[in-house]
Amino acid sequence: MKEKIEALVEEAIACGFTAAGELNVSALEFMPEVREMCSADRCHQYGKNWRCPPGCGSIEEASLRAKEYSFGILVQTVGKMEDDFDYEAIQETSRRHDENFAALVRKVKSRHPDMLPMGAGTCTLCEVCTYPDEPCRFPDEAISSMEAYGLWVSKVCELSGMPYNYGRQTVAFTSCYLLK
Ligand code: SF4
Repeated sequence: MKEKIEALVEEAIACGFTAAGELNVSALEFMPEVREMCSADRCHQYGKNWRCPPGCGSIEEASLRAKEYSFGILVQTVGKMEDDFDYEAIQETSRRHDENFAALVRKVKSRHPDMLPMGAGTCTLCEVCTYPDEPCRFPDEAISSMEAYGLWVSKVCELSGMPYNYGRQTVAFTSCYLLK
């Protein structure tokens, strides 16, 4: 298991992530409170995407699905900001994180077709999501965020021994991959 995780961490860094490490799967807690924060709709995706609440299913379903997995890794892309309002740096880091994330999905999926990736935002595979009028176009590829699973990302990082915050005038995006 240790070798598999080390190999995954190496692959993650090769894909462009700034940091990667073992995910503490046993400490994952699927919290209704995180879902409640989603319903405040600060990201403007609540009720607009099949992979966000409420379309992605209940917290119990999310928890049952994730509990089928025995190990995983956390990955992060960190960017530097020129000041606290450097939205360009935030957007650029988010774009790099999405690219890194998709690259590692492509690499690992051939060996682990049942892998469960959890992203750092809503599913963006389609320009406009079909929710709620038509079924999801790509149900096997669509990705939910860690928050949609009810995970408190900073707590998951802490319990996995990884930083969540890289200090002033930095921005960090975190995602994870669960494997059997
Ligand atoms: S794959 Fe397309 S239809 Fe399915 S959740 Fe993602 S954006 Fe929506």
